[in-house]
This record gives sequence, structure tokens and C-alpha cells, in this order.
Amino acid sequence: LSFSSCNLPEKLERNLETAGYVIPTPVQMQAIPAALDNRNLLVSAETGSGKTASYLVPLISYCSNIRLKYATERKNPLALVLAPTRELGIQVEDQAKVLGKGLPFKTALVVGGDPLAGQVYRIQNGVELIVGTPGRLIDLLSKHDTDLSEVSILVLDEVDCMLQKGFRDQVMQIFQALSQPQVLMFSATVSKEVERMASSMAQDMILISV
Ligand code: AMP
Repeated sequence: LSFSSCNLPEKLERNLETAGYVIPTPVQMQAIPAALDNRNLLVSAETGSGKTASYLVPLISYCSNIRLKYATERKNPLALVLAPTRELGIQVEDQAKVLGKGLPFKTALVVGGDPLAGQVYRIQNGVELIVGTPGRLIDLLSKHDTDLSEVSILVLDEVDCMLQKGFRDQVMQIFQALSQPQVLMFSATVSKEVERMASSMAQDMILISV
């Protein structure tokens, strides 16, 4: 498999090249086609495996294709990535901006440490992707009118770490606020608890391990 055989938007393909991503990593080879095929995935992958791009590539492809096909007045978020820490959230958003450059693909970061008001303002101006931590996202949902009804892809990054941090209930609460999104879960270790969360979100989860 190569990136050019995935039928990606041309600009995304070029951004991958510019970023120096020539050959997909093993996790990308398995996860990208399955995610593009709308499957729900539980992926066992460590940091350094290229896991971030393995969900950002299909996610950016989906979002920009929707925007190019349907011109809507209001641009509600189409995808949501949950990360266990502010630091990971920042890294994910940075990579999303690099790969989504020049496409109809805007991002908002919803993490602690920065004022929520600015983050809300950005979302209200129209974004395709929200990257956030569970606690701050619950804050956003409870205090502000944020329409997540069009979120079609939910990514949970470092699920094992999220569970260790006690975010289980918050993650489930966010999942339940969405309308049956495609779920892409990534975890360094796949424990019984990670598997339980996966099967409570989708019955047809595909397990990928590299
Ligand atoms: P991650 O596992 O997502 O933290 O990625 C680890 C590092 O690999 C990051 O610095 C990425 O920029 C880089 N990377 C991801 N995919 C590729 C690829 N296909 N080719 C070269 N570098 C990559």
C-alpha cells in the first residue's frame, strides 16, 4: 500500500510528501484503508509508530471531501479527537494543521490552560476538527452551545492512558452526546478495560495490532 493508492485528496497527498511521509508505516498500512472504509477500529499502537497520521489521514480526507461536496452555511465540527493530556492534544493539532494545509480543514484545540472563551470563539467561526481533553470538552458541552450532531468520526488516542487518568465516564458521556460516529481507538496496551470500552461503543470493532 502507498499513500497514492488510497484515493486521497490531492493536496493531502502533497502535504504528506512535504512532511516527508513517503512510505506508510505498518500501522498506517492497516488502519488507513480500514478507516477510509468507515470501519470502527481498535488499534494497538505505540507512540512512534505513526499512529497519529493513521487516523488524521482518513479524518482529513473525510472532512475535506464533505466540505468540497456540500456547501453549508454553518460549519459544525465533523470530527473529534480526544487525548489524555494537553501536550498530546497540542501535538495532534499541530500535525493536523500540517497535513490539512490548503484544504477546507480548520481545527480547534479544547484543552485546559488556555481560556475556554477563545476556544469557543474559534469553534463558532467554523471548524472541521476539535482536538481536546475529556474534562475540558465536558466543560465546553455543559457551558456552551456547541453543535456536535455532525461529528461523524470520534478518535480516542492513548485510551489506556485516558482510563488510567480516570476519564472513562467523561469519555462515555462525550460519546453519548454524538450520533453514532465512526470510532477509531488507539492504545499502546489493549487491556480488558480498553476492550470493554471498545465493545460498548461499537459491536463491529476491528482489532488491528502491529
Ligand atoms: P506518532 O507515532 O504518531 O507519534 O509518529 C511518530 C513520528 O513519525 C512523528 O514524528 C511523525 O511525524 C512521523 N511519521 C509518521 N508517519 C510517517 C511516515 N509514513 N513516514 C515518515 N515519518 C512518519
